[in-house]
This record gives sequence, structure tokens and C-alpha cells, in this order.
Amino acid sequence: MRDRRAADADNPADTDSLDSAVSATSPQAAVVPTPSEVHGTDNATGYVVWHRKHLRTADQLALTRAVSGGDVVCPLLVFDPAFYGDGGLACDARIRFFHEAVASLDRLYAAAPAPTVTRTAEAPRERLAATTPLSLNETREDDRTAEDSLSGASSPGLTIGYGSPPTVLQRFANKGWTILTMATPTSRYGKRRDDRVRDVCGNSIEFISGDGLVRGQEWSRTNWQTHVETWLNEAPHTPAWSTADTTQFVLETGITPAAIDAAFDISPSKTLVPTGTHRRAAERLRSFVERIHSYPGNISAPQDAREASSGLSPYLNFGLLSVRQVYQSVSEQAPECRGRQMFTDRLVWNLHYNQKLVDWPGWTDTAVNPVFEDFNRDHHDPELVQAWKGGETGFPMVDAAMRCLRQTGWLNFRMRAMCASFFVHILQQPWWIGADWYHHHLIDSDVGINYTQWQSQAGTIGKPVQRVYNPRKQVRDHDPDGDWICRWLPELAPLPNTFLDRPERTPLAVQTDCGVTIGDDYPRPVVDFDARREAFWSRYERHHPAAARQLARPEIAKRASFSGGYDAAKSIAAEYGDSAEDSAADMQLSLSDAASLDEAADAAEDEMGGDGTDES
Ligand SMILES: Cc1cc2nc3c(=O)[nH]c(=O)nc-3n(C[C@H](O)[C@H](O)[C@H](O)COP(=O)(O)OP(=O)(O)OC[C@H]3O[C@@H](n4cnc5c(N)ncnc54)[C@H](O)[C@@H]3O)c2cc1C
Repeated sequence: MRDRRAADADNPADTDSLDSAVSATSPQAAVVPTPSEVHGTDNATGYVVWHRKHLRTADQLALTRAVSGGDVVCPLLVFDPAFYGDGGLACDARIRFFHEAVASLDRLYAAAPAPTVTRTAEAPRERLAATTPLSLNETREDDRTAEDSLSGASSPGLTIGYGSPPTVLQRFANKGWTILTMATPTSRYGKRRDDRVRDVCGNSIEFISGDGLVRGQEWSRTNWQTHVETWLNEAPHTPAWSTADTTQFVLETGITPAAIDAAFDISPSKTLVPTGTHRRAAERLRSFVERIHSYPGNISAPQDAREASSGLSPYLNFGLLSVRQVYQSVSEQAPECRGRQMFTDRLVWNLHYNQKLVDWPGWTDTAVNPVFEDFNRDHHDPELVQAWKGGETGFPMVDAAMRCLRQTGWLNFRMRAMCASFFVHILQQPWWIGADWYHHHLIDSDVGINYTQWQSQAGTIGKPVQRVYNPRKQVRDHDPDGDWICRWLPELAPLPNTFLDRPERTPLAVQTDCGVTIGDDYPRPVVDFDARREAFWSRYERHHPAAARQLARPEIAKRASFSGGYDAAKSIAAEYGDSAEDSAADMQLSLSDAASLDEAADAAEDEMGGDGTDES
């Protein structure tokens, strides 16, 4: 693993910050009661439900278990300062979405049908104000949306803490609470934080696997598809508040999403960003079901996809909806059609890519295949990186996509894949720089999908099938009228559509006529596309046989986490690997392995997770 970043994907500043804000941590140990003090009985059982993702109350296994087993349940969210300021990698729009989701969760808990005990914690405002840029009393009226989406419930339902999560959780554990939380695929900071929580809370914390992913098995992919299908079709977990006779406990700390938003000066500049509430999530799901028949024909062209695809990704990422809730709603309510099948397949892809991160947290930092670990490293050119980030490469489809990403935090699959391919294959820049850029800007950035997709698109796994997108062809195929390009690159609007795939070829007389000078108003291509593509293929093909052979190593096959499991990895190695002396011993091929050679190609295709069309 290289030390290329100070900050993380999960994702904030480094571990040291875990302790840096302890002095301002809330609630303080002294105000955390024991479960018996809340319940008024001896030996009462108390569960804290610690929310990180899975910000919902329905189909939430940690909550369901807590309600069925506890006399008292305390739902808790801890704002972690490590996610803010210079160390944080998320854009303000994603942070705002998260804050809205926390406020919405608070309102859901406030409406839970359970007797509630509320205590007021010693006011932490002074301590917090000393370590945050603004007073916590401050809320910005001008930022409040019509539905006041940052406001929690008038009588809170959620205990909201602030500080290093291990420190806060340890205080509850010390008072006899058991902490339940949903296990989530994590890496870097998130993984270290969770490890630390395990260290400090010991037997008092349980990470519950309730998201359909397989944990704790040597080969997660054995019968994986069956496992996932079973999980998707099982009844969702519903907390039995009314029958369980459970008391809900809230420790009012004075910390609110609005106060944190103001304290850290969260000022989103993006537009078209969805609001992070459960109501909006449900509306979005409902409206998608009504138009699902038009999904297949409209997901490739970027201007159509924004309306035609579900737009559910941020809600799924933060867990306002579970993958299973969406799957079951669509299966039950949408008419049987190709759109329904394509969509539910994609929900499985969500699990498929997240399974990869469960299987190997290294996806965010290290190339899956050691042969590609340093690929493009010596080609690093900060000017090319900057041109890509800023949408100034001279390739209109790439530039429009990159500006759209920056301004709205969303792109459809094809544009994400095309820009990733362009960055790695044509600009020949290290994949992780691009992956981090997406992670910063995407409202839906899901570490389990973003980084695994990046490595998949970049070709760092060693699969036999590699796709290199041609952004000029994408213009002709998906934006022939130039509507989308001109929306994001208004400087090209006066140019006739026929030149939008290669503006640099616009005759000078036409440029003069329409008042656009290529090279001045809009850049010439920063690289020669055909030469770069050829150079990539010759370099990649030179390395590929050695890379394919690596897939026979169990350790590397586990990292790759193909849906076809170890057999698929060994088959690729057998068919495409080079024949170095030691390969036979590494590969441990058997007759049954040889029989699955054909499946290898299928498995490799399956890894693509595309938009259903083959052309690139
Ligand atoms: C380089 C790259 C990075 C990506 N990063 C992310 C990311 O951080 N978060 C994310 O949710 N998706 C990511 N995707 C996948 C895909 O582009 C988005 O899921 C999709 O565009 C989100 O919009 P939607 O919810 O309207 O999608 P829909 O088409 O309506 O799909 C519904 C859901 O299915 C899942 N899904 C759809 N396509 C894929 C896919 N190819 N792989 C895995 N799951 C899929 C998502 O959960 C999505 O919300 C990435 C794709 C690429 C090529």
C-alpha cells in the first residue's frame, strides 16, 4: 500500500484525529445513565443502536434486535469531526445530504410508537464552540429549504453525539449498555475506527451483518447468488415497538444536524442535488416504479438518464432505504417488464461490488493485481489531471461529464465509466487520483462501488475483457444534437453539431462565422487520442498474461472476489496467464477447473456491471 493520501475514503483525516476532539466530545461520561436508571428497574437491559450508514428504522436489523431484546433502546448518531474540515474528502453537498438524513432519522425516531424517556445532558455548547469555527447556536436562515430539511423533531428521538465515536461509545459501554450496529463494508479510516471501537468496547459491541453480504467465510462467493436472492426475498426486519414493551431513551445533547452544518460552515455550491429525507426517498422510489418501462432505453444517454434512472443511489448509499426494500417494492409494484429485470439486476450489482470491499478492504488503495500496482505511476502528469478534473481536455463528452460531476455530484453509469477509462487509458494517469476525485464529488459515493468500479474500469484486476471508451463515438451515439454537451460547455453552443465530436476539426471559416475559436474559447485535445489508445493497449497487453497468472493465487483471487469465485479466477489464469515455470504449482489446476474455462469469460463479463449496451 502506498502513502499517497493523508485522508481516507471512508473517509476523513487520519487516525490521529480519532482522539483530537476528545475534549469536546459529547455526551460526557457523567451524564450517560445506566439502562436501569432510565428504566427504573434493576438489571434492565439497554441497547444503543449506533447509526453510521443504514440511516433508517425499517429493515434495520440492529434496531430490530435491540427492540426485541432490550428494556431500553437508545438510538445514537455521533458526528465525527474527522469527517469535516481539511481532512474530509466529501464535498459539502454530500455532507449536507447526510445532515438532512440525520435530521430525517431523528423525526422518524420521534414518531416511533414507544414510550420515551428524555434526559437533558449537561450543555456541551461552550466546549464545542471552542473547537468549531462558529457558535452552535448559529443556523443560517438563508440555507433553510422549504421543508426545513435540517430540522430534527421538536422532541428529539435520536441521541446525537459529537466527537470520536470510540470515546463516545465507550462511555455507554462503561455504563452497562450493549452497542449494536450494522456492519458496513469499510476501508481506511472507517475500518480503523471500527477496529478501535471493537478494542475499547470489547464484548459490549456487536457488528450485525444484516445487509445481504457474506461475512466471515473464507470464500464468500460459494453459493453467493443463492444467498443474495434468498436475502432479497426474505421479509424485511421490522422493529416490534408496540409488542416488545421497549422504552426509547433520548439524551438531549443540544447537538443538531443544523448546528453542526453551521459550525462547520457547510456551504454546498452544487445544483440539482436531491434532498436527504426519507419522504423524498419514498417519493423517488414511487415515481420510478411508474416510469420503469422507459428505463432500458434511456440509461445510456446522459441527458435522458438523469430522469430515466431511479436516482436512488444517494438514498441507498446512506441507507435511507435498504437495497431489499427497494428490490421488494419494485418487484411487487412494477409491472413485469425488461426495465424491472434490468433494475433489479443492478441492485444485485450494488451488493456484488460491496461484497468485494467486504472481501478485501484494500480496494481503495492498492491495485487488486500486483502486476498493475504501479501502472501509470511514472506517467503522472499534474497538468493532465487538472485538465480532466476541470473539464478542459478538448474532448467535449469528457469535459461536459466532468463539469456536470462537479456542478451536480451525479453522472450516469456510462459517463462515469467513460471518464474513468479516459483518465486511465488515454491520459494514462494513476487510477486512484481519479477515484478520489469521484469520491469527493459524487453525492452517492459508495466506497464499496466507487473504488471497485474504478479498478474494474481501469483494468487493474487482470480480467480478459477490457473496455476502452471512445469519447468521440459517445458524442455521436448519445448526444448527436449536442444538447447535453452545450448545456455543460456553453462555449461550444454556437458550433454546428457536426463538429461537436471533434471541435478542433472545425474549419477556421466556420469558427469565425460562429465566433468560437478552438484553442482559445475551448481547448484543443490535450493528447492524441489514437496514439494514446494504441500505447495503452500495447503496454496493457504486455502485462496482461502475467496479471492473469496472478489470479490463480488464492490471495489475489480473494481480492478480486469474482462472482464465479476462485474457479473463475483460476480459469482466467489458465486460459490467459503466461506459462512461467512456477505457474503450475501456483494454479493447482484440476480437471473440474479446466471444465469451467468457458465460464471464465462469462464471469469476466459479469464483472463489468455496465449499462446493458456493448459498444464503447
Ligand atoms: C467509475 C464508477 C464509479 C461509480 N461509483 C458509484 C458510487 O460511488 N455509488 C453508486 O451507487 N454507484 C456508483 N457507480 C455505479 C452507477 O454509475 C450508479 O449506481 C448509478 O449511476 C446511480 O444512479 P441511479 O441510482 O439513478 O442508478 P439506477 O440505474 O437507477 O440503479 C439503481 C441502483 O443500482 C445500483 N447500481 C446501478 N448500476 C450499478 C453498477 N454498475 N454497479 C453497482 N451498482 C449499480 C446502485 O445502487 C443504483 O442506485 C459507479 C460506476 C462507475 C463506472
